[in-house]
Amino acid sequence: MTSPATVSAGPGGVRPRPAGPGDPGELLRRLRARTSGGPGDDPVTHVERLPARAGEAAPWPDWVPEELRTALARQGVVAPWRHQAEAADHAYHGRHVVIATGTASGKSLAYQLPALATLLADPRATVLYLAPTKALAADQLRAVASLDLPGVRPACYDGDTPRAERDWIRQHSRFVLTNPDMLHHGILPGHAKWAPFLRRLAFVVVDECHTYRGVFGSHVAHVLRRLRRQVARYPGTPGRGLAGVPTARRPTDRRTTSGPVGTADGPVFVLASATSGDPATVAERLTGLPVIAVTEDASPRGGLTFALWEPPLLPSSPSAADPTDASRPADDDPGDPPGSGTRDAAPVRRSALRETADLLGDAVAAGVRTLAFVRSRRGAEVIATTARRALDAAVPGLGARVAAYRAGYLREERRALEQALLSGELLGLASTSALELGVDLVGLDAVLICGYPGTRASLWQQAGRAGRSGQEALAVLVARDDPLDTYLVHHPEALFGRPVEATVLDPANPYVLGPQLCCAAAESPLTPADLELFGPGAKETVEELVAAGALRQRPTGWYWRHPERPEVDLRGTGGSPVDVVEAATGRLLGTVDPGSAHFLVHPGAVYLHQGVSYLVDDLDLADGCALVHAEEPDWSTHPRDVTSLSVVSVRSYLDAGPVGLFLGEVDVTNQVVSYQRRRLSSGEVLDTRPLDLPARELRTVAVWFTVSPEALAAAGVETADVPGALHAAEHAAIGLLPLIATCDRWDIGGLSTANHPDTEAPTVFVYDGHPGGAGFAERAYGVASAWLSATRDAIAECGCETGCPSCVQSPKCGNGNNPLAKAEAVRVLDVVLANLATTASAGSDDPGSR
Ligand SMILES: [Zn+2]
Ligand SMILES: [Zn+2]
Repeated sequence: MTSPATVSAGPGGVRPRPAGPGDPGELLRRLRARTSGGPGDDPVTHVERLPARAGEAAPWPDWVPEELRTALARQGVVAPWRHQAEAADHAYHGRHVVIATGTASGKSLAYQLPALATLLADPRATVLYLAPTKALAADQLRAVASLDLPGVRPACYDGDTPRAERDWIRQHSRFVLTNPDMLHHGILPGHAKWAPFLRRLAFVVVDECHTYRGVFGSHVAHVLRRLRRQVARYPGTPGRGLAGVPTARRPTDRRTTSGPVGTADGPVFVLASATSGDPATVAERLTGLPVIAVTEDASPRGGLTFALWEPPLLPSSPSAADPTDASRPADDDPGDPPGSGTRDAAPVRRSALRETADLLGDAVAAGVRTLAFVRSRRGAEVIATTARRALDAAVPGLGARVAAYRAGYLREERRALEQALLSGELLGLASTSALELGVDLVGLDAVLICGYPGTRASLWQQAGRAGRSGQEALAVLVARDDPLDTYLVHHPEALFGRPVEATVLDPANPYVLGPQLCCAAAESPLTPADLELFGPGAKETVEELVAAGALRQRPTGWYWRHPERPEVDLRGTGGSPVDVVEAATGRLLGTVDPGSAHFLVHPGAVYLHQGVSYLVDDLDLADGCALVHAEEPDWSTHPRDVTSLSVVSVRSYLDAGPVGLFLGEVDVTNQVVSYQRRRLSSGEVLDTRPLDLPARELRTVAVWFTVSPEALAAAGVETADVPGALHAAEHAAIGLLPLIATCDRWDIGGLSTANHPDTEAPTVFVYDGHPGGAGFAERAYGVASAWLSATRDAIAECGCETGCPSCVQSPKCGNGNNPLAKAEAVRVLDVVLANLATTASAGSDDPGSR
C-alpha cells in the first residue's frame, strides 16, 4: 500500500524516512579478510540472506478519534501498519489480543490506539500498563505523555515514585504504568485505595510478555489472576455488563456509555511479545483468558545478511594462549552461578569476547555504525576497552568513538549515548541486553552478537536492531566456546526458517501456587469460585494451606490467618537474597540469589562486581549477608559440590526396552564442600580448601533416562567408562536444553550415576533448579528425542579429541569435569535414541517447533 522506499518502520507506525548507507556484503568481506589465511581458516560457518520486506499500511480504524490521529501525526505517524490496526481493532472490540511481531515493528501503537481512544471517549475509563522493567515503563510514559492528550494524565507508579505523588496518581491518573512487582507488592494489597481506578479499568497492557517465563512467569500469571479477581470485586456500574457480546459490545457513540468499558468479565488484556512460538497459548497461560494472536508483521524492513561466526582455534600450547583470555575467567557474567568461568583446560578457541571486540574495532574503522551485544556488564566493558585500544593504536583518537552501555546506567546517561550514536559521533557501542527491552534505538548498520543470547526470540530481537531505516544490514553471531553455540553455528537450520521457541511457564507449580493463594487470601478471602480462576490444583493447595495453618476455612471462604502479609518475591528462587557488603565501608555492592550464594560468596571466594575484584571474608547465612573486601589476587576460586538425588514420584514414563524415559518429582541435596584456587595466568591448581557449609534440599521436577548395563556393553561402552560416558552426556544435554526450552544453562542441574539406588540402572537426571520446577524438565521430556539427538550431534561433531567446553565440559561442574568419556557418551545417546525411536510418541517433534 505504501511504498517501502518512502517510509520506515518507526516504533509508532508509518513515518517519513531518512537516508542511510551500508553494504553488508562488503563489510562481511572485510571482517572475514582479517582472520582468513586460507580457505580452512574461514570463521564464517554460514551466511543467511533475509530479503527486504515492503510494509503494508492500513487505514485508521474508524473508531480512532480525530484528536488522537492529529496527536500521532504530530509525532510523524501518518498511518498504522496492518498488524497494528488489526490488533488494535480486536482490543477495541473487547477481544483479548497478543501482538507478537519483530523488533521495531511498532507494537506500542497496537495498544495505544484502543487504550487512548477509550480514554478520550469515556472520561472515566482507566488503563493499567505493565512492563518488566522500570526503564521500559518510563520510556512508554514519555511516549504517551508526548501525545499530550487531555485528561489522560499518564503516570509511572513504581518503587521510585515519591510517596507524596502516589495519592495523586491513584486518584487522578487514568493511564498508570507500573511493573508486576509493584502490582504484587503495592497495588493489589492496597486494592481498597485503588478501588476507583480498578472499578473503571478498561485495559490491561502486558508489554514484553515473553520475558515472563519460568518461575517468574508463573508468579506473574497468578498476579494477573489476582488483578482480575480484585477488578471483579469492584464491579463497575452497568457499563461492564453491557459488553456481554464482545464484538457488538460498544455503542457507536461511546460518549453515551456512562459506565466503564471492558468485557463482561473485566478489562481487556492487550499483550505485546517479541516474536515467539505459539503466542496465543502462552498469553492464555499467562492471563487465564482466551487470547487472539496477531503475528503477521506488516512493517517494512531492509534486507539482512546474517553470518554465523566461529572464532578460530588457538595454538594448542596453553602458554601461547591469548593473554586476554587468560587474564579474565570467561565470557560469562560475574553474577553467573556455580563456578562461572571455570576452565579446566586451556581455551580451545579464541574467546568470543576478544573476537567480538576485534570485529567491532574493524567495523568502526570502516565507518560502520555497529552495536555489539554481550551477556555481562563486564563483557561489555571488556569489548569496548579492547576495541578502543586497537582503534587508538591504528588512528590516535579513533577509540573515542566506541563506548560501553549497560543496564544500570541512569536514563540521562543512556539518552546521551543513544543520541551520540544517532548523530554519528559514536560509531560503536558494546551493550548488555539492556537495549533489548524497548529502548528506541534504530539506525545501526551492523549488530554483533557475542554468544547465543539463549533463545531465538532474543537473537532476532538483537539482530533486529540492525537496519537503519530499512537499509541493508549485517548481523553476526559470534559463537562462544560451549556446546550450544558450537552446535548452532554448525546447524544453521536450528536458527533460520523455524519459529522461535514458546515461552515456558507453569502456573500449576505448587511452590508458586501456594504462596500466590496466600497473597490472594490476604487481599480478600478466597471463595470456591476464585479457586477456578487459579486453575487446577488450587483446591488441593488451599486444603494443604489450611492444614499447614496458613489459611483458615470459614463458611464464607478461606482467610489468611496472620496479621502481616505473606512475603513472596516474584523473582526470587526461594528465600531472600544474600547481601554482599563491603566490610570496611558497609556499602552494599549487590545481592546474590540464595540458591547461588554457597557457590559465589562462600568464605574465600573471589567475587567480581562491575569489574572490581573482592575477596569474601565471611558468609553469614543467618543474616543473609556476605562480608567482602576489595582485593585483586592472582588466583580464581572454583567451588566443588556434591549432589545426591532421590526420586519422590514418577509422573510419566516411557518404557523403551533397555531404555526408560521418566518425568517426576525428585529431592536434590546439594552441598558445597570445598573450593580450588587456581592461578589466573596458567590455570594451575594452587590448593583445595575445605568449606563448612550446610547441605541444602530442593524438591523439584526432573527428567531422566536409564539404560540397561547390558545395552551399554553391547554398544561397546566398557564398564569402567560408564560413569564418564553418562557424565559427559549429562553435561552436553544440559548445555543443549536451552535449544528447546526458554531456560538458560543456569536454570537447570544434572546428576549422572552408573547405578542409582532408585532406578537400579545407569541413569542421567536433568532437573529444574527451582523449587517445584519451572517447566523446563517437563518440556525436555516432551521433546526428548529431538533434545537428545541434538545433544548427540553436538558431541559427535565437535572436533576435539577427548572433550572440551564446546561439547562435554561444563563451566559449572561441581566435580571438576571428571570423569568424562566423550566417544562413549555418543554411544550411550545412540542407544537411547535408537530405543526411543522404536517407541511411539517419544517427543519426536523438532526442537522449538512448539
Ligand atoms: Zn569438544
Ligand atoms: Zn559434572
